[in-house]
Amino acid sequence: MRGAQVAQQQEERRRMRRERIRAMVDNLDLEGMRNFLRILVERQPALFLEIWEQQPQAAGPALPEQPHWCNCSRCQEMPQLLEEVCCRGGMDSCLSMEPVEMDALVLDPGVLDLARLTLNDMFGMRENNEPNHTMRHVAYRQFTVWQYGRLGRGNRHVIPSCVVTRIRATYPSPNGQYRGYVPGRLV
Ligand SMILES: [Zn+2]
Ligand SMILES: [Zn+2]
Repeated sequence: MRGAQVAQQQEERRRMRRERIRAMVDNLDLEGMRNFLRILVERQPALFLEIWEQQPQAAGPALPEQPHWCNCSRCQEMPQLLEEVCCRGGMDSCLSMEPVEMDALVLDPGVLDLARLTLNDMFGMRENNEPNHTMRHVAYRQFTVWQYGRLGRGNRHVIPSCVVTRIRATYPSPNGQYRGYVPGRLV
């Protein structure tokens, strides 16, 4: 009798968990969904492709149409005209997918954490309450130093949209809100 009760309780817990997950999915807005999918694709690319290929839309175009100013196919529409910058690489040579330095210098959480501590120490950087906000900010900075060798006040470089997109996918904002390019802001 007791075994049956335990099994019933377990089934009830599973049912409640399924309902909770369903409610979480139902409450996601479009940007939240995109962020979630980007993380899923980063972590489980094989699983994503397997499910994608079973969907009826897989026969259609695999990628949404890219902004007209994008050459690499990984940029997204940006809110400000001056943010409409592509890495100018091709589909197979997009800077945001550069296999060694992007991971090692720009996305690696340990490297970002060390850079964050250095910025705090040297410039007294104010940290945002949202940890991923700080990680994104430090990642943009790491990218700029990697690409241009230095940061310069007044001539801050605009980071290509594909790179911004990848950094946001790796360190997403919990509410899907992102601050765009702010000229002259270094720390
Ligand atoms: Zn592009
Ligand atoms: Zn690109």
